[in-house]
Amino acid sequence: MEKNSFFVDENGFYGPFGGAYVPEILYKCVHDLQEAYLPILESEEFKSEYHQWLRDYVGRPSPLYLARRMSEKYGCQLYLKREDLNHTGAHKINNTIGQILMARKMGKTRIIAETGAGQHGVATATVCALMNMECEIFMGKTDVERQHTNVERMRMLGAKVHPVTTGNMTLSDACSEAIRDWCCHPSDTFYIVGSTMGPHPYPDIVARMQSVISEEIKWQLMEKTGRDYPDMLVACIGGGSNAAGTIYHYVDDNRVDIVLAEAAGHGVDTDYTAATIHCGTEGILHGARTLVMQTDDGQIKEAFTISAGLDYPGIGPMHANMAMRKRSKVLAITDDEAIRAGYELTRMEGIIPAIESAHAVAALQHIKFKPSDVVVLTVSGRGDKDVETYLNNKSKAGEYGQF
Ligand SMILES: *Cc1c(COP(=O)(O)O)cnc(C)c1O
Repeated sequence: MEKNSFFVDENGFYGPFGGAYVPEILYKCVHDLQEAYLPILESEEFKSEYHQWLRDYVGRPSPLYLARRMSEKYGCQLYLKREDLNHTGAHKINNTIGQILMARKMGKTRIIAETGAGQHGVATATVCALMNMECEIFMGKTDVERQHTNVERMRMLGAKVHPVTTGNMTLSDACSEAIRDWCCHPSDTFYIVGSTMGPHPYPDIVARMQSVISEEIKWQLMEKTGRDYPDMLVACIGGGSNAAGTIYHYVDDNRVDIVLAEAAGHGVDTDYTAATIHCGTEGILHGARTLVMQTDDGQIKEAFTISAGLDYPGIGPMHANMAMRKRSKVLAITDDEAIRAGYELTRMEGIIPAIESAHAVAALQHIKFKPSDVVVLTVSGRGDKDVETYLNNKSKAGEYGQF
């Protein structure tokens, strides 16, 4: 990669961020993966198999939809990239289907994964059922209790779910536990990481798997507007995978502005936030150097947001670097703004978005548009899983909450 690229360099870094800070016992595993991943991903055999599964099983390409009423309201041409219409209801399966194919090519027989809200766990358990592979999911005990339906889905799909009782018993602890399991079974186990995080090469693997999103945006925009690039891309950002996929083919194209929405929770000036880019400082989390929400003495702070999928005290190293270099503009969206935006999209376009995706929708009100601006916003997932959250917070939805 060229020197000032926003993509990973040959040592696994994005500027000062990234790398592979792993325990000695995992060194060989991670090194093997570093050596194996590009030849696999770039082989014609992998590409054709992967694209066939994306088409026949996931349901791709996902539509690019001109949201007419929302366009009028915000004064731009707003297109929605409908990742909510994928099998299992979000973008996550683009990645799990790719990684499990990779695991098979590497001769691994056992799959492990971490999950927070359970969405990545379900997407992993789904592809394990599909490929008839053993599947073990690590999930914080707190999350097991608050995301019970997803736990039952994973079990129904044949996965073993391990409630993790260390730390805050949430996503961050589940990641640590998955890494610990990997240390105990380095030879037969493939760890399917759920976002653009973890030691190199995971952030790059996940970004490449999700890059199908912007690959499609290119030809879909060409078809619809006669131009293969938008003026702006908008996505929500937890670990950063749907955002990475949305921007992948436009990262070095300065005609395209990038706006990312992270979860502010109650606000960036409170202790109840998950806005890592606003509030984080440099540190090492789950095998990578990145921005981390931590105390002065380096203890990881618990992230707080209404959205379980954005509830992570770190951020993918690619995004830490892009934000630092001002390639992306990162907005911190509060719980209340997200709730309102979720109701707005529901009422104006008939699309109930995941509460994560509603953070991206809420970013629109903070941006000044020209009527000619072509904006593509990724709806990362559907909101069926969040109906209860929306209803419990309908008092925050203004005129849309009067029912
Ligand atoms: C998991 C999830 C996210 C956040 O993860 P990223 O890796 O940042 O994309 C966003 N939206 C939905 C619907 C999710 O399930």
